[in-house]
Amino acid sequence: MSRELIFTVDLDRDVNIPITGCSAAGSMDRGQGTEPRFSSAELGLAVLLDVLDAVGVKGTFFVEGRTSETIDCSGLSGHCVGFHGYDHEDLSGQSTGVTYTRDEVESILRRGFDSVSDNISRPTCFRAPYMVRNGHVESFLPELGVFHDSSSYGDLGAEPFDLGNGVMEHPVPKTTDGSGRSMSAYLWPMHEGKRPPSDYVAMASRMEHGQLILATHTWHMVEWRERGMMGPDEVRRNADHVVEVLSGILDLGYQPTMLVG
Ligand SMILES: [Zn+2]
Repeated sequence: MSRELIFTVDLDRDVNIPITGCSAAGSMDRGQGTEPRFSSAELGLAVLLDVLDAVGVKGTFFVEGRTSETIDCSGLSGHCVGFHGYDHEDLSGQSTGVTYTRDEVESILRRGFDSVSDNISRPTCFRAPYMVRNGHVESFLPELGVFHDSSSYGDLGAEPFDLGNGVMEHPVPKTTDGSGRSMSAYLWPMHEGKRPPSDYVAMASRMEHGQLILATHTWHMVEWRERGMMGPDEVRRNADHVVEVLSGILDLGYQPTMLVG
């Protein structure tokens, strides 16, 4: 039985939030409004790349077009590069009230794809902002030569499946922990101090076969959603926790791999 670890990272504007009536996402208001910020995304990218180097894992980065134009992404060389919209659009319109025609969805995807292509490398996979796709998205991905998507949640150990047009969907696991509490493989609660690293290793130990897609954001390496910027000791502890998760899972015998190798 083989088990693969795929570490995915959303590289997008800091603490992104949907803004009603706006296509582009903002950043959480820290007293100076919701204009998008990218400084934590950039600082956190450096922290995360060091972590990945330390444990010998290559990441799969879903990069927002605007972010690729704004921060230095040269450290992504050798990692798998995907894309993540252009301005972190909610393509379903559910959170913003802004809905898109098929042409508009295609234009957003094309712009994000082109921007990441120009600034980093040609993306080989996609994750929808906020993990919400719609039918227009999946039907257009093949036109960009993108055949791997990870924009949904699924059962622990669920196999990747064909969305019906040759695009393979790789779900992020959602399951329950040892005490029956719901948890997903997004590391969000760990960064916020609400789950220990051992919960994610325990989750991995319960999967018998297949791909384990872990997920996080670069900004979350240096900034809490709820409490603002972390201090240096807190950044170090947060990075140590990611090392603990990854090395704990590798110790179970998982093979580290990228979404598209
Ligand atoms: Zn995102």
